[in-house]
Amino acid sequence: MIRHSAFPVDPWQVRETRLEHDLLAQSESLFALGNGHIGLRGNLDEGEPHGIPGTYLNGFYELRPLPYAESAYGNPESSQSIVNVTNGKLIRLLVDDEPFDVRYGTLVSHERNLDLRAGTLTREAVWISPAGKRIRVTSTRLVSFTQRAVAAIRFEVEAVDNPVRVVLQSELVANESVPAQTADPRKAAAMERPLEAVDQSITEYGMVLVHRTRASKLQMAASMANVVEGPRQNDEQNDGQIALETHLAPDWARLTAVSGLQPGERLKLTKFVGWGWSNERSPDALRDQVAGAVTMARLGGFDQLLAEQRAYLDAFWDAADVEVEGDDEIQQAVRFGLFHVLQAGARAEGRGIAAKGLTGPGYDGHTFWDTESFVLPVLTLTAPEAAAHSLRWRYSTLDLAKQRAATLGVKGAAFPWRTIHGEECSGYWPAGTAAMHVTADIANAVTRYTGVTGDTSVEVEGGVELLVETARLWMSLGNVGQDGHWHVAGVTGPDEYTALVDDNIFTNLAAAQNLLGAADAAERHLNLAAQLGVDTDEIASWRAAADAVCMPYDEKLQVHEQNRGFTTLPEWDFEANRDKYPLLLHVPYFELYRRQVIKQADLELAMCTFGDYFSDSEKARNVDYYEARTVRDSSLSANVQAVICAEVGHLELAHAYAYEAALIDLHDIHHNTRDGLHIASLAGAWVALVFGFGGLRIVDGALRFNPQLPAAITRLCFNVRCHGSKLKVDVAAGEVTYTVRAGTDGTDESAAVTFHHAGEALSLRAGETVIRAISPVEPMLPRPKQPVGREPIRRPAIHRPESA
Ligand code: BGC
Repeated sequence: MIRHSAFPVDPWQVRETRLEHDLLAQSESLFALGNGHIGLRGNLDEGEPHGIPGTYLNGFYELRPLPYAESAYGNPESSQSIVNVTNGKLIRLLVDDEPFDVRYGTLVSHERNLDLRAGTLTREAVWISPAGKRIRVTSTRLVSFTQRAVAAIRFEVEAVDNPVRVVLQSELVANESVPAQTADPRKAAAMERPLEAVDQSITEYGMVLVHRTRASKLQMAASMANVVEGPRQNDEQNDGQIALETHLAPDWARLTAVSGLQPGERLKLTKFVGWGWSNERSPDALRDQVAGAVTMARLGGFDQLLAEQRAYLDAFWDAADVEVEGDDEIQQAVRFGLFHVLQAGARAEGRGIAAKGLTGPGYDGHTFWDTESFVLPVLTLTAPEAAAHSLRWRYSTLDLAKQRAATLGVKGAAFPWRTIHGEECSGYWPAGTAAMHVTADIANAVTRYTGVTGDTSVEVEGGVELLVETARLWMSLGNVGQDGHWHVAGVTGPDEYTALVDDNIFTNLAAAQNLLGAADAAERHLNLAAQLGVDTDEIASWRAAADAVCMPYDEKLQVHEQNRGFTTLPEWDFEANRDKYPLLLHVPYFELYRRQVIKQADLELAMCTFGDYFSDSEKARNVDYYEARTVRDSSLSANVQAVICAEVGHLELAHAYAYEAALIDLHDIHHNTRDGLHIASLAGAWVALVFGFGGLRIVDGALRFNPQLPAAITRLCFNVRCHGSKLKVDVAAGEVTYTVRAGTDGTDESAAVTFHHAGEALSLRAGETVIRAISPVEPMLPRPKQPVGREPIRRPAIHRPESA
C-alpha cells in the first residue's frame, strides 16, 4: 500500500495537494473536525460533491428496531444510530449565475490543510467557471475546543481577472440525503429523513432551526450568525451596501449575500454555528441556548476563536507531543492520531467516545471497548481531564448496566458491547453480549486512571460503585472448579473469530484485575463500600477468586491456550483463503469459530496488559504461536502486536506493525476510512510507540519504562502526564533521558514522580533529569511468521532485515 501522493508527509499538518474525487469520502474523514461534543466531516464548503455528508452531536441518536430471524430471551429490541444532524457547514457560491462546483468548469488548483497546531482546516481553490470567470476561494474552518457548542468558518471569494457578480448562500440544512448503505456490518444503518421540524426562528443576528427525532424523542437546535464584509457596491437601492436576504423553511435557513467584485476584490463571510440537544429542555430553551452560544462566539470574533484554539492545542502538545526521528511518516501519523483522539474526547463531557469518534457514521456511532482499552490509556496519560469525562459517562450508565445484568440473570452490572446511550445495541449475541470483557475493561480503566493521575474524584464520585458492581458480575459469572482454579465459561474474548469459549485468558485476567481493583478501592473507601453492602468477606472472596484465576496452558506445545482447547482446534487453511480478507465478509462464522484463526490480538493483548502473569520465555513462545494465526481483520490488532513484538525483541516487526496502526487512515488500509476514522487504531499509533518502543507498562498505577528502538528510528521523545506532573522520556543513541516538569493543574510541584526504568525505581522532582543506558533485549526466538498475505504493511524504503 503506497501513500497517496495527494497527501504529502509533513510533521505538523495533513495537506491534500489536489482534489481527487475517488478520495473524497476518505478525505472527509481525515479532515473531520470535532471536539467530542460536535463533529463535522470535512465536506466541501459548498456541500457537493460529497462522499458522505456528516454533522454529528455526541449522544444524539435515533432508535431503530432490531429484527431477529428467531427471537430469544434477552435480545435487545432496538438499537441506537447516530444521526446526521442539521448541516451548518454549507456555504454555496454562485459566480454570475453558475454554481461553484468542482465537477464543472476548470479547477486550476485545490489545496486543503489540516493544521494540527492551529486546530483548523483551511482550503484554497482557484476555479474558472464554465463561462470563463476565474475566482479564488479560501476558507478556514474550526470546531472550537474552548466553546464546545460552536464551529466557525471564514470564507472568502476573490475575483481574479474579470469583474464578477457573486452570490453567497450560507445555510443550515436538515435531513440531507445520505448515500445508500451496503451489507457491510461495519457501516451505519440507513435512516431516511430522521429529523422532524419543531420550530424555526430568525432575529436580526441569526437563525435557528429546532428539530426532533421520532422514536428517541430527542430535540436538537442549530443556529447560525453570519458577518458579511466586502467592497462598497455601486447600488443605490442598498446604499452602497452588500445586498442581504434571509429565508427560513422547516428544514433550511439561508442568508444570501450578493456582491459585485472587481478583480482583486473579495467578499468575506464569517459564519458562526452552534448546536445543542436535549431530551428534557423545551424547544424554546434549546433555541435560546444555541443562539446564546453563537452570539458569544460572534461577539468575540473569529480571531479570538482562532487564538483560543491555538492556546488550547499549545497546552495539549506541550504535555503530549511525540517526536520520532527516522520515520517521517510515523511522525506525522502519530500527531494526526493524537489530534483525532483529542478531538474525539476533549469535550465529550457526559457522553461516550465512539469507535469512529464524531468523524463518520460507521458502526452507527457506537462506543465499544475500544474506548477504555485503546483510547483511554492515551488520554489518561496525555489529557487526563478527557479520560475522566469518559469514565464519568460510563458510570452515569451504571443503572442500565445493572438492569442488563438482571435481565441476563447475573449479579452486579454488565456494560453493553456497543451503545450510544447505555443500553445494549448489539443484536448478535456471540460477538456482542458474550464479550463480557468490556465490563472489566471499563472497571480497569477506572483503576488505571486513579493510579496514574492520583486523582480520586472519579473513584469517589461513582468509580467505587462501578468497581463493586462489576466485581459482583464476575463473582456471579465465574466459579471455582474442582481443580481449585477460578474459571469463566461461555464468553467471547477480543478475538471475534472465536466465540462462546471457556477460560479466555484475556477475559479471565481482566476479570481478576477488576476484582483486585474493586478490593483495593473498597479498602481505600471503607464508608462508600459499606454503603454498597461490601464487607470484609466479600472483599476476601474477590481476592481469592483473582488469586486462583485459570490460565489454560498446552503442555505439549508449551504455549498458553487463548481459551480452553483453542490449540486443539483444526488449523485454518490460510493459503486456500488468502484472497478472502476480511474473512468476516467472505466466510461463514460457523467455519471461523471452529478453527485456529484469530481476527485480532487476544492472548497477545493479555500479555501486553497483564504481562506479569507470563514469563519471558512464555511470551516469546506465545508470540511465535499466535502471530502465525492472527489475520488482523480488526484495526485494533496491529498496535497490540507492535507492543508485544517489541517486548520480545522483534523490533523491526514491531516497527512494521506500528506503521500499519499509525497509517491506517492516511493510507486507508482497511478500505473503510470513508465511514469514519479508526480512533482506537489512531490511539494505537501512540500506544505502539510509547508502550512498544518506550516499553511503558502500568502496574498498580506505577509507570515502568524499558525503551528499545528499532534500527530506523534514531530518536523517540514522548511526554506523559502522571500525578499532576509531566514526564518527558527522550530515547536516543543507546540511552534514555527522563525529565520531570511541573504540571499545570495546581498539584504539589515539590512532590516527586516515581517510576521505573528497566526494573530500577527512580524518583524525580520538577526540573530534575536522569539518564540511563538502554539494555537491549535479545529475541529468544527467530522473527515469527504471519499468515500468508497478512504480514504487516510496511513501505519498502525503510525496511531493514530482522537482526535475529
Ligand atoms: C472489532 C472489535 C471492535 C469493533 C469496533 C470490530 O471489528 O473486532 O473488537 O470493538 O470492531 O472497533
